[in-house]
Amino acid sequence: MKPCDCALTHTPRRVVLTGGPGAGKTAVLELIRLFFCTHVRTLPEAAGIVFGGGFPRGGRTEALQAAQRAIYSVQRALELAAEGDNSAVLLCDRGTVDGAAYWAGGGDLLSAVNTTLEIELARYDTVIHLRTPTSPAAYNHQNPLRHESIEEASAIDARIKERWEGHPRRFFVDATEDFLIKASHVLALLRDEVPKCCRHHVRTFLWDGHARIKP
Ligand SMILES: [Zn+2]
Ligand SMILES: [Zn+2]
Repeated sequence: MKPCDCALTHTPRRVVLTGGPGAGKTAVLELIRLFFCTHVRTLPEAAGIVFGGGFPRGGRTEALQAAQRAIYSVQRALELAAEGDNSAVLLCDRGTVDGAAYWAGGGDLLSAVNTTLEIELARYDTVIHLRTPTSPAAYNHQNPLRHESIEEASAIDARIKERWEGHPRRFFVDATEDFLIKASHVLALLRDEVPKCCRHHVRTFLWDGHARIKP
């Protein structure tokens, strides 16, 4: 992140960056770190902490559900831990609602963790959804898929879209042949979430109808 001398008090906006597998979220997060100031705080992905920490992947339905409950709890805890540091934007690498798209078996995640969709949607000011590419060509320019086929990735992406239905401020960023166009679109959306006092670090301009970013 860029150093920033802004000494104003910020009211943090909680922004979710989400999307199906292969949408390029990780690459976009790398760019965000280059373009935005230290008051844009990026939280780690809860699923990465849970699985990276050794929680078993796969197995019986009960085990899959337990993993999603653990991810939900870690996400809540990460958001709580990030409060009070005068961030302008708390950028969440997925939010609590995403786990519902990965829920297996009967019931649903949100009732399993004693919450409601309304409560969880209200946690976030803005949702930016990076769509998963639907053509194999687009994948070549982006992160390789790890576990899912293109069809599976698309199905997960559609479920994520469905779960966040009803959020009042949601943006979709379609996959593009040129990944940088997609990435600059996300950066332009995120820039609008940053208060003016910290926004001067990032300048955008329009070209071919697409938002572009200049450092
Ligand atoms: Zn500021
Ligand atoms: Zn700043």
